[in-house]
Amino acid sequence: MSTADLPARGQPGRAESDFAAGRPVVFRNGTVLTMNDSGQVLPDADVLISGERLAAVGTGLAVPDGTAEIDASGGIVMPGMIDTHRHMWQTAMRGYGADWTLTQYFVWYYLNWGKVFRPQDIYAGNLLSAIEAVDAGVTTTVDWSHGLQTVEHADAAVDALEEVPGRFLLAYGNIQQGPWVWSAAPEFRAFVNRRFTSGNDMLGFQMAFDVTGDPEFPERAAFEVARELGAPVTTHAGVWGATNDDGIRLMHENGFMTPATIYVHATTLTADSYHRIAATESEQSAGQGYPPTWKLREHGIGVSLSMDTSVWWSGDLFSAMRATLGADRSREHLEAHGRQETVTHCHLRAEQVVNWATMGGARALGLDGVVGSLEPGKKADVVLIKNDASPVMFPLLNPFGQVAFQAQRADVHTVVVNGRVVKHDHRLIGANLGKARQVVGQTVDYLMAELGPDAWKEGMHPEVPQAKVLANPYTYTEWDAGSARWKSTRKDAGA
Ligand SMILES: [Zn+2]
Repeated sequence: MSTADLPARGQPGRAESDFAAGRPVVFRNGTVLTMNDSGQVLPDADVLISGERLAAVGTGLAVPDGTAEIDASGGIVMPGMIDTHRHMWQTAMRGYGADWTLTQYFVWYYLNWGKVFRPQDIYAGNLLSAIEAVDAGVTTTVDWSHGLQTVEHADAAVDALEEVPGRFLLAYGNIQQGPWVWSAAPEFRAFVNRRFTSGNDMLGFQMAFDVTGDPEFPERAAFEVARELGAPVTTHAGVWGATNDDGIRLMHENGFMTPATIYVHATTLTADSYHRIAATESEQSAGQGYPPTWKLREHGIGVSLSMDTSVWWSGDLFSAMRATLGADRSREHLEAHGRQETVTHCHLRAEQVVNWATMGGARALGLDGVVGSLEPGKKADVVLIKNDASPVMFPLLNPFGQVAFQAQRADVHTVVVNGRVVKHDHRLIGANLGKARQVVGQTVDYLMAELGPDAWKEGMHPEVPQAKVLANPYTYTEWDAGSARWKSTRKDAGA
């Protein structure tokens, strides 16, 4: 058994050669969250990667000669995280919509400005978003790509996904046209045949569109295309003011509700509708409805996590796990208080949200035999959370709590996708951040010019509704030095 020392910080370039293709890699002495069915956690354990797959998980593993060794001591080794719904093209406008509601989002993207995005703008957003995902330990991402006005836009989206060493699924959509229109176009078929091969678990394909609830059910044609192509459909369901139970009922009555269908948000549905995906940070800010996990639990419905769009919030699943726990628990407390009761034991546990961020996502995508847990034979998508410079990495008492409530993007030390080390010692390998910076800059310049300064400013800073300030009924007693006595004042008087 031989090991090789890995480069110290400040020696760029060396990491890449140390992880040459085909060289086995072993994580040593970490706290390993297997996320297998029995929820096994292995202290002081190793994870061995050989080729594209996990070769062994256990303590004191014997490894082949020449294996690259990564010291995971003091850290957590877990499966790569899985985001089942991210509008990657919108990352080119990172943070622009921080103060939006869903209404402003619809106005900006659907009505006004989505149509000015060119293929190169889709490429720019996707490239940055894909790098951002991998950097945060999100090894599989569904690109819910509803800005594909032409097949050239779609090619640009896939070009970017192929440039970044992560696992992606393109969910093809186009908000500028009904899905029954774009899915019928011969060039759409040709694109699917040209860019996707079945059995490629690095680049998958889905169709992304919403069901409006129109009793004519015009979406039928698009569902039929999806069925013919063998593509799962992902749909925003149960979004307040946009999609509701009618859409779900139509899908069901017409036989298009299959186990592969993914329901994003699923917040405002009634009990007999069916839900799958939470995007909690999104729901809390944008107003699709209350994050639904507290309800889904009662129905035994599978949940995965997603971050939706970087035009509002961050593209990492740590925030999503944290937001989900917070929203679920605060709702549980609120409901109990309404019944004059006290919650003494939380239902939703940190372990559960870590499971949703890994195996939950794998199940939703039908990839649970491929990724989502650290088990020998599966594809090697592995994340090491470790940060020796951080005061927040120790003591490491509750590893699930550490992942859900303490860890952040900066603590992602190493990321492996399909057996390939794509980030090590907090530095990306094989992702061109400089290029992403350049193309995103060009897109931002172009959009600023298209919108003009007024629309640009208005878009970013929607009007603040007038807050109604209630009159203060309380009086305050103050010492009045002139009359040498206490006097009462109304705090709001004359203010
Ligand atoms: Zn969405």
